[in-house]
Amino acid sequence: MVSKKTVKNKSVSQVAVIPGSFDPLTNGHIDIIERALAIFGRVVVGVLSNPSKTALFTDAERVEIIEKQFASCKGQISVVSFSGLLVEFVKSVKSKVVIRGLRAISDFDYEAQMSLINRKLDDSIETLFLTAREEHSYISSSIVKQVALLGGDVSDMVPPVVVKALQRKVRR
Ligand code: ADP
Repeated sequence: MVSKKTVKNKSVSQVAVIPGSFDPLTNGHIDIIERALAIFGRVVVGVLSNPSKTALFTDAERVEIIEKQFASCKGQISVVSFSGLLVEFVKSVKSKVVIRGLRAISDFDYEAQMSLINRKLDDSIETLFLTAREEHSYISSSIVKQVALLGGDVSDMVPPVVVKALQRKVRR
């Protein structure tokens, strides 16, 4: 039997938010964004501007990289820098769904805590998890930065636009 509450909440939001630091965008992120787009009509990639975290790429650079990567999906994917509470950002883009990627069990504790806090702040917003593909499960932005800054090849982990952006940073 379907409860009244289920019926009331039946309408599915067409916009999903994928928040993250994206410092820089990796093949793991790209996969999550593409898979979210296969489910939702539109995806907003929320690039977290966090002054307390020292990022390699500026907010504007991280946004520009993601926009370049998804230039062919302009109407479906938008990239927006945000700061402050995630639930407020989600509401501001008229969404009710946050999508996060899960690489390993070790991601779970933190992600579960964040989703519970976000539900406490606004229980109309749901967090959904997509598990990383096995071949991407070892990839993180921090590993990419470490390898690239030591002169290693990261072309299996990030798209060409990021390889070029990293080369420019390393040269400086
Ligand atoms: P944050 O600092 O918020 O974790 P990240 O840029 O590291 O931001 O990650 C953004 C989102 O992408 C998170 O949900 C994270 O779990 C997911 N993610 C990161 N790397 C991968 C990967 N290799 N495969 C799948 N999802 C990933």
